[in-house]
Amino acid sequence: MNDNKASSREIRVVLVETTHPGNIGAAARAMRNMGLTSLVLVSPREHPVDKARWRAASAGDVVDGARVVETVDEAIAGCELVVGTSARDRRIPWPMLDPRECGAKIATEASHNVAILFGRESRGLKNEELQKCHYHVNIPTAEAYSSLNLAMAVQVITYEILMAAREAPPPLEWDQPIAGADSVEHFYEHLERTLTDIGFHDPDNPRQLLPRLRRLFNRVRMDQMEVNMLRGILTTVDTARSSSREDGT
Ligand code: SAH
Repeated sequence: MNDNKASSREIRVVLVETTHPGNIGAAARAMRNMGLTSLVLVSPREHPVDKARWRAASAGDVVDGARVVETVDEAIAGCELVVGTSARDRRIPWPMLDPRECGAKIATEASHNVAILFGRESRGLKNEELQKCHYHVNIPTAEAYSSLNLAMAVQVITYEILMAAREAPPPLEWDQPIAGADSVEHFYEHLERTLTDIGFHDPDNPRQLLPRLRRLFNRVRMDQMEVNMLRGILTTVDTARSSSREDGT
């Protein structure tokens, strides 16, 4: 069994607005089988309930230890690698991984906290939730029916994480810490404000500007110093704008 003793980083399974508590229990069991225990529930419909504990069998502690939050942003805060699972193609395609590549990526980034998002039973993850991710992971299926049961999707992904950890490649070296999801999210908020203020972004006619900018920066995987520099540039633009307004220019 792999209990991730090799590093103290966290691999978080995030279940977004799960409807059926049985799925929470079954996901907890799948995690525990694969050596993972960090479960975060975003606004579950029913929790905690016995039905989840029954389905968890000996992994009831994972259900009881689950952190419950209200938003995806809270769930992914502090994670340097965020992955979203989806059965469907999206309008703006994102960098894709299959479960095996996802396991390898997580093993390679051995010091990074990871969040893996799983969507609602009925509707999956919303586009804006997937746009917070660095990668989308699709589990290959028969073409005619691509949607797995939620807990089974958790099983497939966590199995690949365990398998990849057994032959982990050397960790990536980088001179700066990679920025966490919350810090990157604050950068996006700032970027949107400034782009709106200078008239580059029109909230009444947004087209796909912001998702495409997110995709660009998420592809780069900015480190914290890069985020700080970009925030500094935006602040300088903001200051120049407000002083030119005061000058009446
Ligand atoms: N009907 C939903 C599917 C929900 S299944 C839809 O059309 O999107 C519940 C969750 O299990 C999904 O949100 C996703 O996180 C995961 N899942 C199910 N099938 C998957 C697949 N083939 N690849 C990746 N994730 C999958």
